[in-house]
Amino acid sequence: MAKRPAFVNIGTQNYGVEYHEHLTADGSLLYGHHLHSEIKIKVNTDYPEDLQRETFVHECLHAIDCRYLNDKLSEDQVSVLASGIFDWIRSNPEAIDWVKGK
Ligand SMILES: [Zn+2]
Repeated sequence: MAKRPAFVNIGTQNYGVEYHEHLTADGSLLYGHHLHSEIKIKVNTDYPEDLQRETFVHECLHAIDCRYLNDKLSEDQVSVLASGIFDWIRSNPEAIDWVKGK
């Protein structure tokens, strides 16, 4: 099984990815967090691995939205798209390899 990533490229930026127990912001427990100004994504490790992976995709989608769409997507749109992309990636390994040119 692949290691969880320490970095992820979004456009021209190389985001650092951090994994934290009990990740909070403003007193609220979070699944994850996208910090555009710090070029960082954080994932809460309190949750099962599959949920951490989906959270990682969700936070990457926030970064993609920020980079390519100037934050036009709503939280609901990001959530639905991230779930769909997560399922698509996991259900189509051969298609993913083809997209990667492998
Ligand atoms: Zn979100």
